[in-house]
Amino acid sequence: MDWRANRPGAGTSRVWSRVAVARAAAAAALAAALLAGCTSPPVIAPLPTPTPSVNPAGFSAGGEGIGDPYYPKAGNGGYDVTHYDLDVRYEPDTDRLSGTARITATATIGLSRFNLDLTGLTVERVTVNGADARADHDDSELVITPAEPIPAGSEFVVEIVYAGVPETLSDPGLGSSGFMHTDDGAVAIGEPEVASSWFPVNDHPRDKATYTITITAPDDLSAISNGVLRGKSSEGGFTTWEWEMSDPMAPYLATMVVGEYRVHESTHDGLPVFIAVDVDLPTSVDSELSRSGEVVDFLEEYFGPYPFDAIGGIAIDDRRIRFALENQSRPIYGPGFFGGGDASWVVVHELAHQWYGNSVALHEWGDIWLNEGFASYAEWLWAEERGEQTAQQTFDVLYSQAQNSIWSVPPGEPGPADLFSSSVYVRGAMAVHALRVTVGDEDFFAILKAWATEKAHSNGTTEEFIALAERISGEQLDDLFDAWLFQDSRPPRP
Ligand SMILES: [Zn+2]
Repeated sequence: MDWRANRPGAGTSRVWSRVAVARAAAAAALAAALLAGCTSPPVIAPLPTPTPSVNPAGFSAGGEGIGDPYYPKAGNGGYDVTHYDLDVRYEPDTDRLSGTARITATATIGLSRFNLDLTGLTVERVTVNGADARADHDDSELVITPAEPIPAGSEFVVEIVYAGVPETLSDPGLGSSGFMHTDDGAVAIGEPEVASSWFPVNDHPRDKATYTITITAPDDLSAISNGVLRGKSSEGGFTTWEWEMSDPMAPYLATMVVGEYRVHESTHDGLPVFIAVDVDLPTSVDSELSRSGEVVDFLEEYFGPYPFDAIGGIAIDDRRIRFALENQSRPIYGPGFFGGGDASWVVVHELAHQWYGNSVALHEWGDIWLNEGFASYAEWLWAEERGEQTAQQTFDVLYSQAQNSIWSVPPGEPGPADLFSSSVYVRGAMAVHALRVTVGDEDFFAILKAWATEKAHSNGTTEEFIALAERISGEQLDDLFDAWLFQDSRPPRP
């Protein structure tokens, strides 16, 4: 995610000292707003008193949370999703979404019942392995009791038919996120939680899965999602678009975008490229996003092979969206990033997340610096490659700001209130550079690539990253990372 839009001087093409100050200031101004945007309680509401149920021996209820200390009720326990097959229909005239979700999962314990996350939509029918199942829904937690308990280790398919008008999360600082109804369609975008506003889901990045996302919308609109476009078909004035994300994806990275878009389909190194720009935006935006392939090439030098089988981007013309998000294979950009000069830095940021954040996803939200610190550092590398400013110069400018709020928030343990604070981005990137200075360029760039390749399509923790850095460098790095990630004061200069 990047929320540093809607203000002048936001690109790396500008003088970095001014940019750094502007970014820090913007961060301070927006941090509080962001807090509300990221911790408001649309998903995590108290469960109703569970219906008493007789648990056969060896079976129990799956957890109502996956175990993230920052968001105890995010996601669910007791199973592991392998595939979501979503079939949704969106009607802009009524803002109504109707869908069927077929979720293939494996029980990790014997389940007498289990939860899915679903907010603000009405469940019409639930089956488990084809048999009707009981569903208790309190508007955020969907508790499903199958007719027969599910043995540990067995695969099961739960099918949910649902409908309603999806909810938008609103915040005066961040803007809107969640499921947004736009002037001609809709956009599903948000972090950390958005998925449950449009489909039933185990809503936490720890449970990644592959996706088939089929969207039906009026013929005159595009219906865009992640991955490869497998096909389109029309019937009765509506067109169905079928999308396939064949690599594991964290739920918040799944999207559906419906509206009037200029669509550009091409290929880059054999991969399909799908770029979509709202027809109300100037064509200069098309040019900015058309550089996505070039940016992927640049990032591959540092992070290794691009991890997905499609490339792309979507530019939205809705001023309520004041951020960009790294949706898997298809980042979404709010309109504020464009029109103020070269916007390539934000394309670099969101595409860097395809490795750092998407392919290697978080195990817990508290490790968010693994996403934002590295995506921000990719911007430093981009500026360095273009001869604008070296990463060391960028670091020096930021380090000289003794009063910056980044020193009081430890990026490795920011707390949910500061999940997207400037410390996570700026000091997170500085921590990356401190590692580079400490171990030297050769080991540093080996570490960058090893993390992205050894951990591809899985999840990672800060502890695992530190262990990898120590293995490759042969150095003891606990003190370095402790000072840069976990202390609430400015670390010694590396
Ligand atoms: Zn980001």
